Amino acid sequence: MKLTIIGSGYVGLTSGTCFAEAGHHVMCVDNNPAKIESLREGKVPIYEPGLEDLIKSNVAAGRLQFTTSTEEGVDHGEVVFIAVPTPPQPDGSVDLSFIEKVAREIAAVLKGYRVIVDKSTVPVKTGEKVAETVRRYAEEGAEFDVVSNPEFLREGCAVDDLMHPDRIVIGANSDRALALMRKLYEPFVAPVLATDINSAELIKHAANSFLALKISYINAVAAICEKSGADVEKVAEGIGTDKRIGRHFLNAGIGYGGSCFPKDVSAFIAISEQLGEPFRLLREVEAINARALDRFVDRIREKLWVLREKKIALWGLSFKPDTDDTRESVAVKLAAKLAEEGAEVRAYDPKGTEGARAQLADRIRYTDSALAATEGAEALIIATDWPEFANADFDAVKANMVTPLLFDGRNLLDPATMRQRGFDYHSIGR
Ligand code: NAD
Repeated sequence: MKLTIIGSGYVGLTSGTCFAEAGHHVMCVDNNPAKIESLREGKVPIYEPGLEDLIKSNVAAGRLQFTTSTEEGVDHGEVVFIAVPTPPQPDGSVDLSFIEKVAREIAAVLKGYRVIVDKSTVPVKTGEKVAETVRRYAEEGAEFDVVSNPEFLREGCAVDDLMHPDRIVIGANSDRALALMRKLYEPFVAPVLATDINSAELIKHAANSFLALKISYINAVAAICEKSGADVEKVAEGIGTDKRIGRHFLNAGIGYGGSCFPKDVSAFIAISEQLGEPFRLLREVEAINARALDRFVDRIREKLWVLREKKIALWGLSFKPDTDDTRESVAVKLAAKLAEEGAEVRAYDPKGTEGARAQLADRIRYTDSALAATEGAEALIIATDWPEFANADFDAVKANMVTPLLFDGRNLLDPATMRQRGFDYHSIGR
């Protein structure tokens, strides 16, 4: 089938490429000319494992093309996905101006029947607004349906998630659109859940909020573990082996970040309030998340007493491993807090330095290796659980440091082993 993706970022580019890999003919549109130019030159603007090779092979096979023209895109695909940003506004609600703009742009060039699919994460009832907008700006009699098809990929393993999804949610109010969507997803072996548009939109916010809730739940448990001498890892195992609960997302740490959870939780709260059913539980999820980082900084301060002039090595800047994405990264927030208190932070991240630099500029320094960051350091902090940090040469790290003080914000290392190696080791809830 021929399809188009408008917005070629983490979601649009990766899902477009995977649709091409599945045999479809895909046109990826973006209004950032530099991005499209670099994609046409074979350069991939984001880091996502496995993506670059897939882009190359599908471009070579003639199944994947890039353009800045929405008109060309809408002409090409009978199914047109919207995968543009839905960032938060200061009050927590979603800025839907990118979606509204694309809806107008599609309307302006709409000719034959098109299925307009919202893949961006949006509050419930957005599909209705998109349909209204397209109808208002399109020529009279223009034929189209709006569908909601939320995306559940995880950055860092997005290709695998897209090729082998747990489920495919299709929210459609028309049989014609649903049939086309089913055909599009035929090559993917996964259960399809067909719903109305509002339910599909709500599934995405409810899913991400639930995952964030699990993280905050275990972080609240971790705080109690610390006060009581229990071990949060054992507690997580004990509750996570219960099939009704599951072990995923029960990893205590310095909290969730990234471009999705914080904004999706606040968006779900905002829409619940707008609808007159305030979801107060999620406010506490946010509060626990903020406290997880504050408690960690308190512990660092407790040990170092004064942070001013302290040389601190920071491992990790991306919001999670295997991605260069530093949007709303807790590691970046931590770096900013430490720098604000006058600490001299030297940070290393395998992929996230560029993104962090765009936010922190020269408030901290950046190194080319994990070891270099620890040179003369009075403390080492692990803020992102990149596998390479677990496999570091800790004898060399210790030799590099002035005082072997280690704060593991992701419970990446084994406490007993690290203490044996001579570190004054601190982690979360154990
Ligand atoms: P992104 O910022 O990486 O990509 C968005 C792209 O859209 C950018 O390249 C931007 O230039 C382009 N764009 C903006 N306006 C445009 C327009 N009018 N025409 C053409 N292109 C335009 O964002 P993302 O991370 O891919 O997220 C997109 C959506 O998907 C968001 O709603 C997000 O919540 C959701 N989502 C993201 C993830 C994730 O892990 N990143 C996962 C699931 C869902």
